Order: sequence, then C-alpha cells, then structure tokens
Amino acid sequence: MKALEISKLTKSYKNGVQALHGIDLVVEEGDFYALLGHNGAGKSTTIGIISSLVNKTSGSVKVFGYDLDQNQSALKQHIGLVPQEFNFNQFEKVQDILTNQAGYYGIPHKEALVSAEKWLKKLDLWEKRDQQAMRLSGGMKRRLMIARALMHNPKLLILDEPTAGVDIELRRSMWIFLQELNAQGTTIILTTHYLEEAEMLCRHIGIIQQGRLVVNMPMKDLLAKL
Ligand code: ADP
Ligand code: ADP
Repeated sequence: MKALEISKLTKSYKNGVQALHGIDLVVEEGDFYALLGHNGAGKSTTIGIISSLVNKTSGSVKVFGYDLDQNQSALKQHIGLVPQEFNFNQFEKVQDILTNQAGYYGIPHKEALVSAEKWLKKLDLWEKRDQQAMRLSGGMKRRLMIARALMHNPKLLILDEPTAGVDIELRRSMWIFLQELNAQGTTIILTTHYLEEAEMLCRHIGIIQQGRLVVNMPMKDLLAKL
C-alpha cells in the first residue's frame, strides 16, 4: 500500500512565486521519509498541500489511496500534522487541547481521555496536563503538538521541521519517540534541513531544491555516494 502518492504537483502563490515545479513522490506504508532542503525550497508548501492547508495549483495527491480532490475528508482522517509554528490556544489546558482535538474527529470524550493519557505519558507531559499551554517550555509545546497530531491515530504522521530550535537532549528523545512510533507501524514524513537528522532516522530521503525534487532514494544509497 502506498501511504502517499504525489504526481506532477505544482504551486504558484498569488504573489507570483512558483514554489513547486512538478513534484513526483511516492512514500510506501511503514516508511520513514525525510524531505530535506534549504529555507524556501518548498518543503512547507508540499506538506501544506498534503494536509489541505494550502491549495495546490495542479497535479494530484493521494493518501492511502484517497484523492485530495475527491475524498478530502477521508484523506484528512489518515493524516496527523505537526506544523512548525505553535498554533494552539495558549490559554487552554494541555489535556483539553488534546481532548478537543479528538472531538473534531468525532472521538467520544471517554476514549479521548484514555488516548490523551497515553500520549501525555509517552511524551512526558502527564504532570503538566492541567497547566495552560502558555506555561510550557518550548520543548514541551513541541511535544504537545506531536501528542495532538496523534489523537485520532493517523496512519501517516507529517512533521514540519520538528526539531528546529530544540536542544540536543530533547532532539534525541524525540528521535527515539518517532522511531518507536514508526516501528509500531505509523508512516512518518518529516522535513528538515539537517542531513544528520535525516541520516539518523529515515529510510528514504528526498532533496528538494527550488521547488524540484532533485534526489529521491533510499538513505543508504545517498550515503554511499557522499
Ligand atoms: P494561496 O495561494 O494558497 O491562497 P496566498 O497567496 O493567498 O496563498 O497567501 C497566503 C498568505 O501568506 C497571505 O496572507 C500572504 O500575505 C502570506 N505570504 C505572502 N508571501 C509569503 C511568503 N514568502 N512566505 C510566507 N507567507 C507569505
Ligand atoms: P521551505 O518550507 O522549504 O522553507 P516554503 O514552502 O515555505 O519552503 O517556501 C517555498 C517558496 O514559496 C518560497 O519562495 C517562499 O517565500 C514562498 N512562499 C511560501 N509561502 C508563501 C505564501 N503563503 N505566499 C507566497 N509565497 C509563499
């Protein structure tokens, strides 16, 4: 099964910037895929389109067989997104952020509480469950974003530069968390501009430059060439 199938994807923003020039990309179920590129290369645009936050200009996107144009709501059920920017209500309590998110997906409250407990414990936030989000440290907020993205048990987790601005200790613990999640069957795609991070974690790598995918191969093949 293919987790993601992108074909001839283009994006021109209204200001005239052509961010994507025809991206073709397939990610198999169970894979751990890194999209590597400099600032402005088109990583966030690509992720934004997959997760329905940005409108594409042309091309097609399928997630677990569901076409973005034909079956957007089914597609969204399968995706958990961890955006780069913190975008939760700072006044809300940690646990409520998670249960409210589950509510958007129609998950009953009792189930949501069980699931929130599970993810809060795994991400070392359980002690903070009754605190307002604004009282968390940057690293805790980052982990809260991951917990929130997992509340509806998505088969595909997409993270946009998850470790940007994160200290090395937290970065390592996030790596371990993501590796375990992947080992348990969740397909993961992350963007990064650290080759080292891609190398540590990922089985496949795509390198995006000025809106074009210039490399797309198993990580070990890329390493053999360097
Ligand atoms: P879309 O074509 O997807 O509807 P828009 O062109 O309307 O997107 O832009 C969305 C928003 O992003 C606008 O408010 C715009 O001002 C803002 N924006 C413009 N240029 C940039 C940029 N280089 N990086 C990030 N945001 C930008
Ligand atoms: P990356 O995530 O790799 O840093 P982006 O996808 O954010 O790259 O940006 C790709 C290109 O599109 C850049 O030239 C950026 O300035 C432009 N861009 C991104 N978002 C917008 C927007 N909302 N409106 C206009 N231009 C944008």
